[in-house]
Amino acid sequence: MNIILLGPPGAGKGTQARHLVETRDMVQLSTGDMLREAKDSGTEMGLRVAEVMARGELVTDEIVIGLIREKLEAGGGSGFIFDGFPRTLAQADALGELLATTGQSLDAVIEMQVDDEALVARITARSTCGACGEVYNDITKPQPSDGKCSNCGASDFKRRADDNEESLRTRLMEYYKKTSPLIGYYHAKGQLRTVDGLGDIDAVQGAIAQVLDN
Ligand code: AMP
Repeated sequence: MNIILLGPPGAGKGTQARHLVETRDMVQLSTGDMLREAKDSGTEMGLRVAEVMARGELVTDEIVIGLIREKLEAGGGSGFIFDGFPRTLAQADALGELLATTGQSLDAVIEMQVDDEALVARITARSTCGACGEVYNDITKPQPSDGKCSNCGASDFKRRADDNEESLRTRLMEYYKKTSPLIGYYHAKGQLRTVDGLGDIDAVQGAIAQVLDN
């Protein structure tokens, strides 16, 4: 089963994708994670996109489609969760073609709906474990008081360079201008399912499970 998690920055796509990886043996394909890895390991491409990402703009379709192509050709688990991809209509078309050429299909596109105020609050409060990627939130899920990640025990927490109000404003605008048209695109294809992303993590997990199990 291959699915897309679609929604603005801070909708909870990464958190929900991690849960599906743990419970359903699916493979998370996050283009944001891939680009951050490329930047951290200092590859030429990673350094080239770093400033674009810090500003909150989208990197070129060509780069992200190339990243996804590599992963699809490598195969994986009981399906892919596309997290943060596609973000433009050109990427959506490319994904359709890539899946078709590798003999796969797209089973559902799950739109996670959250209002803008909640997004700003979530993003400016978020941090992750640098070792395992566990997501924390200063208000709803604070880092453990002993300073150790509750999932893996590491004590290196990170905040993303683009999780600040200014680049968030750009990221939201990029979402509304370039990514939100995908809602109509997948609706027209009969693949769109919508869940309320405002509830607590368990409630959203339940709503997504219901979509997948139907
Ligand atoms: P994310 O981790 O999904 O919030 O992505 C972080 C940043 O990486 C975005 O603000 C973009 O600069 C870049 N990025 C991630 N995925 C894509 C994509 N599919 N298309 C273009 N840029 C992307």
